[in-house]
Order: sequence, then C-alpha cells, then structure tokens
Amino acid sequence: MMKKWMMVAGMSGLLVSSGCANNGGEENGTDEAEETSSGASKENNEDSQEATKNNAEENTEEAENDGQSDAGEDAPETEENGDLKNPAAVDALINREYHLPSDYEPENLVIPDVAFPFEGEPQKKYMREEPAVQLENMFAKAEEEEIELSAVSGYRSYDRQESIFAANAEKDGEEEANKYSARAGESEHQSGLAMDVSAASVGYSLTTDLGDTKEGEWLEENAHEYGFVIRYPKDKTEITGYQYEPWHVRYVGEDLAGTLHENDWVMEQYYGEEFEKDSSNSEEDK
Ligand SMILES: [Zn+2]
Repeated sequence: MMKKWMMVAGMSGLLVSSGCANNGGEENGTDEAEETSSGASKENNEDSQEATKNNAEENTEEAENDGQSDAGEDAPETEENGDLKNPAAVDALINREYHLPSDYEPENLVIPDVAFPFEGEPQKKYMREEPAVQLENMFAKAEEEEIELSAVSGYRSYDRQESIFAANAEKDGEEEANKYSARAGESEHQSGLAMDVSAASVGYSLTTDLGDTKEGEWLEENAHEYGFVIRYPKDKTEITGYQYEPWHVRYVGEDLAGTLHENDWVMEQYYGEEFEKDSSNSEEDK
C-alpha cells in the first residue's frame, strides 16, 4: 500500500507541472477535461440553466414525496470545519458542505484493468480496490452488450485538486471556477471512489453529450448494479449544486446504489442534506 502510494505521490508532481504547462493538458483532448475545461462548462451552462428552470417544480414535488420513504440516513458526522470524521466510508457524502480532510489519502489505490484513452500510469488512473474491481466488472458487462466504455479520470490528490482549482480561478475568476470546479477537499475524486467515464463516440471527452449516446444511457441504466451512481444527474442540479455530469460515476456500494436508483435520489436526498442555495446568487454559495 505504501509502495503504491509513493508511486502515486511521485506521479502527482509530474502531473501538476505538465497540467499547468499545457493549460489543463489539452494535448489529447481528454486529459483533465472535466472540471478544468471552461469550454465544456460554458457549453453546459445552457443545459444546466434549462434543467434548473424545469426543476424548480419537480423539486417541490420531490420534497412532498420524501415522506413516502424512511430510508434516509442521518447526515455523516463532521468536525467543526466540515471535515468528515470517517472519510474512508464507502458511502461518504462529499460535497461543498462535507469535506475530505486535507491529509486524507485513500488506501489500496490500484489501476483498474479497463480501457483508458491514454498510456502510462498517471495518478488519475487509480481508484480504491473495491470500486476498481466493480468498474472492471461493469466495463466487461458493457462490452458483452457491445457498449465500449473508457475510463478517463479517477483518483486526484488533495494537492492536485488544489492546483486545478487555483488554475481555474486564475483563468476564469474564483466565482466562475466555483461553478464547475471543486475546491480541494470537496472533490469525490480525492476519495478514490469516483471515475470519469467516456466513450469513443464523443471523442473520450467529458461532455454532457455523453448522456444522449448509447454508452451514456447504458451507464445510467446499469451503473447501480455495480455499486455506482451518476452522481450529478441532469434533473438534480439544484440539489447537488453541481452541473449535469453524465460522465462522473461514484462508487457507493451496491446497497446504497440500489436504494438511490430505486428512489431516484442523489446522495444529498438520501442524507436529507439537499444543497441549499438561492439560484439567483449561486456564486455566493459554496
Ligand atoms: Zn468527475
């Protein structure tokens, strides 16, 4: 474990400098495209706002329907600064309110044996072992059904996330960056439980277009069978506080994934911690 981690840590510095030098590594069009590409985020804004409008009503209905189930759990325990007391929990809620401690590094990081659109062993190929195995199973099942998925970006250390946010803030301003980019400690990628997934049909990019492809649809329908959820669905942007990200799957374990899927909940709904914001001044919130 230590050995693996040292290797990852060693790669990290290399990645940061290369990412900075290339402005997010646009050389292959997929490198860190997710929360670093303002192009993608601007492209998403219309969708996102559309979804936001449409959802004002739906959210009200959802709130009324919440009473029909008592499956919701208490919110996770945190320190006063919002750091999770149990950051390694597979079902940890990680968002702008519930943070991973700055010194949290997951154990058992491995590279899942799945397709990536790039070579080498950069930090972002890693995941925790349990989700890595499940990702392998999910990709294998997809392949049986002639759906070719590709993993694009997994583990990201606190330091790396910090560098990415700083670069985005420098480029677009902090308020703008905060809309599409997570601050250090607030990214699920630090947990080793998240993977960004794409497909050749969208050039391996992290784009909302993925949601309309057969690969994106397959992922949405089947991820829960392997313990994953689409963490930022299109119709939940008001609740998660994040734009629609059909590519970002988060491992939560099969039980919770099943519960969320059945109830059409995101994690915030399960924990009764819906992201509170006034959509008219979302930039003020975090
Ligand atoms: Zn992601």
